[in-house]
Amino acid sequence: MTDVVGKEVDIIVVGAGNAATCAALSAVENGASVLMLETALKDSRGGNSAFTGGAFRFSYNGVDDLMELCPSLADEDLDNIDFGTYTHDQYYDDIFRMTQYRSDADLIEVLVTNSFDTAKWMTTHGIDLIPATGRQAFKVDGKFKFWGGLALRINGGGEQLVQTLHDKAEKAGIDVLYEATATDLLYDEDRGVHGVRCRHKGKVLNLDSKAVVLACGGFESNQEMRARYLGPGWDLAKVRGTEYNNGEGLTMALDIGAMPYGHWSGCHAVAWDLNAPAYGDLDIGDQFQKHNVPFSIVVNANGERFRDEGEDFHSYCYARYGGEILQQPGMFAWQIFDQKVTHLLRSEYHIRRITKVTANTIEELAPKLEGVNADRFIQTVKDFNASIRTDIPFDPNVHDGRCTEGLAINKSNWANPLDTPPFEAYAVTAGVTFTFGGIKVSTKAEVERTGKRAIPGLYAAGEMVGGLYFHNYASGTGLMAGATFGRIAGREAADHVKMLGQAR
Ligand SMILES: Cc1cc2nc3c(=O)[nH]c(=O)nc-3n(C[C@H](O)[C@H](O)[C@H](O)COP(=O)(O)OP(=O)(O)OC[C@H]3O[C@@H](n4cnc5c(N)ncnc54)[C@H](O)[C@@H]3O)c2cc1C
Repeated sequence: MTDVVGKEVDIIVVGAGNAATCAALSAVENGASVLMLETALKDSRGGNSAFTGGAFRFSYNGVDDLMELCPSLADEDLDNIDFGTYTHDQYYDDIFRMTQYRSDADLIEVLVTNSFDTAKWMTTHGIDLIPATGRQAFKVDGKFKFWGGLALRINGGGEQLVQTLHDKAEKAGIDVLYEATATDLLYDEDRGVHGVRCRHKGKVLNLDSKAVVLACGGFESNQEMRARYLGPGWDLAKVRGTEYNNGEGLTMALDIGAMPYGHWSGCHAVAWDLNAPAYGDLDIGDQFQKHNVPFSIVVNANGERFRDEGEDFHSYCYARYGGEILQQPGMFAWQIFDQKVTHLLRSEYHIRRITKVTANTIEELAPKLEGVNADRFIQTVKDFNASIRTDIPFDPNVHDGRCTEGLAINKSNWANPLDTPPFEAYAVTAGVTFTFGGIKVSTKAEVERTGKRAIPGLYAAGEMVGGLYFHNYASGTGLMAGATFGRIAGREAADHVKMLGQAR
């Protein structure tokens, strides 16, 4: 790899996940030469992108649009799959509603209006999109009905995504320097950003370039930064994905005057197996997650429910489950299901490495819920079972309105009495996915200082972009935002290089 170090290169891309590889491919398409820096070994490359399930959120106007991305859809039984639509307006509405209208409108416009075209561009790079039935639509009376925009997902999930994009990058002549941890930007006021300093196998290297794209993730892997920015207790959370996103990219950019932007005290965190390892495990991918809260009741150590489990489809609230569990005594909770709904549970409930107990009665289950007040739990179930509007039919594909009445915390939808054994219970804690705080970028992915002044030669994409997510997050947006802004960053950085060439 030392030959890579000596090579002249137009653009250095820091990172080797989805946003970085999209930026690198786009830069090459636009005529630039690229070197990628990846802090991890080749085997563990790809950051959080490698851990994803491949949910991919884009707007579409109907099944004809989907067929453009997935021609094999024509072979499906389309009479029995209702994909609905996911228009630009639906996408905007979801994001702004969920982020309490705080998202940067200009950046969201770029994300939403480019999303379909980005998905198409990804397919030209070999990404295979397939229907997300099972995860985003259930079969009811022989028919699937999608509820929320995620019609297609990436076949093979994150592992395949990273492999495919890296194969393409290699074919495009893009070098990747592994075990290279970027620490500083080479910058001066006259020239702007003109390279990266990194640690590589015990040496410090100053690598020159004409532009730099930062796509090296947030600070979710860094306990100290989590405690500093997210608050007390977050240092104790488990990390769902990579151990390598330690906030270095953000720090490097802030050090040369980039504007901090977005929700720095916010993050995406889910219900995650209580006994999962401290960081993600690529053999398990995202399967320590436990997203089927809407069909459960969830209790804390006091044996009490603490959220409206039926507030919405999981896609629209799962990113908050983790933070809520973190606030509970002992930072854990149990999700309880009965046999009326276990057929609806996602694949993650069927893995071997799982903290699960079962029992034939609620009284028998109660003492098995480690750490939980058993008597209080039994009373909670009795009260819950007695409060359900069973006159309203259960339908997992729509907000069915089958609620509870009269409880301190009611369940708004999908409420079913726990009465059909064996009962199944799963222990969960908070699993951090990624952090929301980032740096300010323009709609061209240029990193900006205060006053919307771009820092010449510096671009950013992916988790590092601030201003997209506040309080909550709609599933499948992270990969789309990374691909969209990565593609733009690569193109704009290549244009910057061309402009420098003309100026000479
Ligand atoms: C378990 C899990 C499941 C998920 N599922 C989905 C999903 O289905 N759909 C979806 O849209 N999103 C999902 N996400 C979120 C998604 O992973 C992220 O939003 C997205 O992958 C971020 O891409 P990125 O390229 O910005 O960062 P990453 O993919 O994290 O890439 C960052 C890269 O930078 C490297 N790096 C870090 N620091 C340095 C440094 N100093 N020098 C050099 N390299 C460095 C890392 O090693 C890595 O290669 C999931 C996340 C997790 C953890």
